[in-house]
Amino acid sequence: MEVSDVEKDVTEILVSEEQIRSRLAELARQIETDYSGRDLLLVGVLKGAVMVMADLARELNRHVSMDWMAISSYGSGTTSSGVVRILKDLDTDISGKHVLVVEDIIDTGLTLSWLVANLRSRGPATVSICTLLRKPEAQRMTVEVRYVGFDIPNEFVVGYGLDYAEHFRNLRSVATLAPTVYS
Ligand code: 5GP
Repeated sequence: MEVSDVEKDVTEILVSEEQIRSRLAELARQIETDYSGRDLLLVGVLKGAVMVMADLARELNRHVSMDWMAISSYGSGTTSSGVVRILKDLDTDISGKHVLVVEDIIDTGLTLSWLVANLRSRGPATVSICTLLRKPEAQRMTVEVRYVGFDIPNEFVVGYGLDYAEHFRNLRSVATLAPTVYS
């Protein structure tokens, strides 16, 4: 879906499809170098990370394994609850593995801090984080985010996997939502 299909619902394109594509290619080159000679397991966080996982994985010119977790954070609102619940756990035993968590967006970082602690307790060799988008508050996180696509302002965004009440995930770009949609 293009922005022109939902013109009235979005105010601005923050990150275009082309910007996403070229940034993911840059991150992929960095990841290839950093994990050279090591097996790599990408862990995607459902449902928001579906698009970034699919595109990043295809950009990587090497073997990777992929697994998924689903955790609840936001519900259908636009503010972080800080409450995390596992809805779907990994299928794989990650002990001794190099794990790269692939995220769509980090806002407060509450979700991710919880997730990284949970994964580290399973005895992996390493756990690193890759996120397409990062909001300003996330800078205060104690967990290091190794790969960041774009730092964006503190606005509610949709598209490229990110939803509002399950809509807009299939938008090709990342856009800000018009307040009329949620007010
Ligand atoms: P955090 O715990 O970092 O505050 O929130 C992370 C989760 O909240 C993300 O994985 C995502 O599901 C949701 N989230 C945070 N900011 C936004 C946003 O601007 N738009 C959408 N659609 N979801 C967001």
